[in-house]
Amino acid sequence: MIRVAIIGAGLGGIAAAVKLRKAGAACTIFEQSSGVGGTWFDNRYPGCEVDVHSHAYSFSFLKYDWPRTHATQPELLAYAEHVVERFGLRPHLRLNTRVTDLVWEESTSTYRLSTEHGDTEEFDVVVSALGLLSVPRYPQWPGLDTFAGPGFHTSRWEEHDLAGKSVAVVGTGSTAVQIVPAIAPQAGQVYVYQREPGWVEPKNEHDFSPRQRWIFRNVPLAQRLNRARIFHNGNRRFRGYDTGSRRQHRMRALCERFIATTIKSPPTRTAVTPDYPWGCKRPILSSTFYPALNRDNVELVPHAVRRVTPTGVIDETGAERKVDVLVLSTGFQPTKFLAGIDVKGRDGRSIHDVWRERASAFMGITVPGFPNFFILYGPNTNGGVSVIAQLERQAEVVVGAVRRLARTRRGSIDTSPDAARRFVEWVDRKLATSASAMSSGCHNYYHDPSGHNVTQWPGGHLAYAVATRFVARFGLRTTR
Ligand code: NAP
Repeated sequence: MIRVAIIGAGLGGIAAAVKLRKAGAACTIFEQSSGVGGTWFDNRYPGCEVDVHSHAYSFSFLKYDWPRTHATQPELLAYAEHVVERFGLRPHLRLNTRVTDLVWEESTSTYRLSTEHGDTEEFDVVVSALGLLSVPRYPQWPGLDTFAGPGFHTSRWEEHDLAGKSVAVVGTGSTAVQIVPAIAPQAGQVYVYQREPGWVEPKNEHDFSPRQRWIFRNVPLAQRLNRARIFHNGNRRFRGYDTGSRRQHRMRALCERFIATTIKSPPTRTAVTPDYPWGCKRPILSSTFYPALNRDNVELVPHAVRRVTPTGVIDETGAERKVDVLVLSTGFQPTKFLAGIDVKGRDGRSIHDVWRERASAFMGITVPGFPNFFILYGPNTNGGVSVIAQLERQAEVVVGAVRRLARTRRGSIDTSPDAARRFVEWVDRKLATSASAMSSGCHNYYHDPSGHNVTQWPGGHLAYAVATRFVARFGLRTTR
């Protein structure tokens, strides 16, 4: 039986475990946190919920009775736990166990895996499922460490009574737009610091009616057909990333209409209107953020932060606002793949040395010289309608490789350097003309310090499904 280590018990690790166990592999899932769910375990800020439709942001292999169009964080956490129970993964979990090192042993075609507790174990195959948005990005503002009140990153939320308090939320990405409407009714005053606005679309979230839920539960294919409809629309929406396309114009017009119809103050309308194409930054979905900006106790500060004092925040114009609580909604460091783990492949080479110039992987999953090592949510796989579907496709590539190892009785499977190079060249060519390219004057978190877009998949989910199903196998070779 092939022994597989899966690092991370988020939805990626869970998908891999379900599919690999079905294929007959023995799985051990290592998770540094005390529970499963990954990003939905870490992120517990007020208003936290997914902005992708629940029927798409869930596994294709399990029908589930979703109560809303967009599941809340507690619902997503319950879902992760449900899948773990339903597929009997609990005995295979090692919670509170951070993996620190992986070293490929050529003589045995195995990885020696070490954990923070000093234990080592051997595995035939290792799957990294660390997620993309898990390393917080802390700003380097002068004085930040002198701030006297509670100050924390959104993914490390601290519960404080905000009644009557003055709260600064810095950032206006997908996270901040959920937090601001959720805390504004309790807080005395909320200052929203915006460095550069994002395009915001209405999310149109709502509870399913009892009738709808009955239909999705009982009518064969109803949930699947709805899922197919969402993916079809999502794949079409992808055309908007072409800046000259009709869909790009439609998306901008939709967002501009949303601003005009929901925000009362003309200066705020101007301040939230981006001057770059839709799709440059990750599109933001929120029906409640703009209405929250109309509240008397919410002020949009359309400036970056310059400095923090013990009692307040000074923006780039020099204006200081007194603040009791500082919320850093400043995002993550997604270009730092495999942060915190040292992976050594053939000839003792570290993956971080191989990635010195840029992080890349064939199909975003495998790296030449690192046999039997697979990455879920790796370089250039973000996007494509729903990440859950992307993760499933990646898990299926792992299953295909594991089956091949078992069938051929070979010890290892490695990636053709030529296939990996051609994949990256293709990705770069595609992304060069996308709305997210830096050449369009765009700032986003997709680019590494040397300017390579290392996070985004340059197509819809359908293209990724075809690539992983029909092309991936040609880049992978059994080697011994
Ligand atoms: P983000 O999209 O990276 O937004 C970070 C915000 O902080 C931006 O507005 C950024 O401004 C600002 N910022 C960063 N550093 C700053 C600094 N030094 N000074 C001032 N402002 C600064 O992060 P996020 O909102 O946490 O979202 C990250 C990703 O998580 C999303 O894109 C999405 O993929 C995912 N997410 C998903 C959901 C969901 O419902 N599925 C919900 C939340 C998050 P600039 O734009 O000027 O850089």
